[in-house]
Amino acid sequence: MKKYDYVVVGSGLFGATFAQKAYEKGKKVLVIDKRNHIAGNVYTEEIEGINVHKYGAHIFHTDYKDVWDYVNSFIEFNRYTNSPVARIGNEIYNMPFNMNTFAKIWNDVFTPEDALRHINEEKKEIKGEPKNLEEQAISLVGRTIYEKLIKGYTEKQWNRDCKDLPAFIIKRLPVRLIYDNNYFNDKYQGIPIGGYTKFVEKMLEGIDVKLNTNYFDDVNYYKSIAEKIIYTGPIDEYFNYSLGTLEWRSLKFETKVLDNNNYQGNAVVNYTGHEVEYTRVIEHKHFEYGNQKKTVITYEYPADYEEGMEKYYTINDEKNNKLADCYRELANNEKNVIFGGRLAEYKYYDMDDVIKSALEMFNKVDN
Ligand code: FAD
Ligand code: UDP
Repeated sequence: MKKYDYVVVGSGLFGATFAQKAYEKGKKVLVIDKRNHIAGNVYTEEIEGINVHKYGAHIFHTDYKDVWDYVNSFIEFNRYTNSPVARIGNEIYNMPFNMNTFAKIWNDVFTPEDALRHINEEKKEIKGEPKNLEEQAISLVGRTIYEKLIKGYTEKQWNRDCKDLPAFIIKRLPVRLIYDNNYFNDKYQGIPIGGYTKFVEKMLEGIDVKLNTNYFDDVNYYKSIAEKIIYTGPIDEYFNYSLGTLEWRSLKFETKVLDNNNYQGNAVVNYTGHEVEYTRVIEHKHFEYGNQKKTVITYEYPADYEEGMEKYYTINDEKNNKLADCYRELANNEKNVIFGGRLAEYKYYDMDDVIKSALEMFNKVDN
C-alpha cells in the first residue's frame, strides 16, 4: 500500500476539484504546486483590502446547475454581472454588442429594426461564408463596429492581422437585439465573496498541500508514494518536449494602487484601439462592490510567449493542434498518470468547464 491514493500536481481548479472529491470519498491525497500559492490562475491576492485577480480577471459563469451547486457549497457567490465597456479614443460603448451599443454608434437607431437595417446594409460587402475573423466580424455586426470595437482589440490580443485569424475566435462574443449589457448568456454568474483564493482554500480543507514543489524535481519519488498521479501541468513539459514545443500567447500585467476610491466606474474597461498597447484595464474592487478608500487597477498587455512567462492562451492553429494530438497519444499510454486541465489538455477552458471535467474524471477513475 502506498502512502497516497493520489498525488495531484497543480492546485488550480482542476487539481483542487479532483483532490476535493477524492478526499471526500476517504482517499489519501497530496496536492503539490510549484508556485508559492494555491488556486492556479484564479488566485486572488488581497491588496488594500481588495481581492486582486493576479492572473487576469475571472468571472464565474455557468449553465451547469450541478457545477453551480458544487461551487456554492464552498463559498457564497455575489450577483456580479460582467458588463464591460469599450473605449476607443474619446468614445465609450457598452459591450457586448447590444441595443445600447447600436443606439450610440448610429444616432438614428432606437429599435431592433433600426439596428438591423444598418447591420444588414453593412454586411452586404461579405459574399458567401466568412473566410477569416475580419469577414466573420463584419457579417455579425458590420464594418463600423468592426473597425471601432473589434479590429484593434483583436490585433493587439493576437499580434496578427484580423484577415489572418480564424473566424471562430469572435463567435463567442454575443450580439443581442435587446438593451442588455450582460456579457454572458449563462444562467448563473457571480464572484466568490472574499476572493477565489478563499474559495479554493475551502475546497482543499483537510488535504495535505505542499507549495514551492515542482513535480519534475523528483518524479520517481512522487510515483513511489502514490497509486496514481493527477497531472495538470503542461503536457509537452511532461514529455520533456520530445515531440516539439506547444505555442502559447502570454500577457503582462501592470498593477497600480491609486489614492482614488473609484478610477473608472466599472470592473472591466476594454481599450479597442491601437492608440494604447493594453487591451483592458481592470479595477478589481468593482467585482465585489468594494467601498475601500483606495483602488487597485491592472493594465493588461498581450504578449508573445517567451520562456519563463506564464502560458495563458492556447494557439489552436493546425500545427499546434496536431502536435497536441500527438502528445495526447503519448499521455494515453502513460500508466497511472491522468492528465487534466488547460495546460495538460492544451485547451481553452472556462472555469466551469474545467470543474465539470475534473468531476467527470474523478467519477471515471475512482468508481
Ligand atoms: P491552472 O489554474 O493553470 O492550474 C495549474 C496549476 O499547476 C498551476 O498552479 C501551476 O503552478 C501548477 N503546475 C504546473 N506544472 C507544475 C509542476 N511541474 N509541478 C507542480 N505544479 C505545477 N474562465 C472563466 O470561466 N471566466 C473568466 O472570466 C476567465 N477569465 C480568464 C482570463 C484569462 C486572462 C485567462 C488566461 C483565463 C481565464 N479563464 C476564465 C479560464 C481559467 O483561468 C481556467 O479555466 C482555469 O484557471 C484552469 O484551471 P486549471 O486547473 O486547468 O489550470
Ligand atoms: N473582442 C473584441 N473586442 C472586445 C472584446 C473582445 O474584438 O472589446 C474579441 C477579440 O477577438 C477576443 C475575442 O473577442 O479575442 C474573445 O474575447 P473575450 O473577452 O470574450 O475572451 P477572453 O479574452 O476573456 O478570453
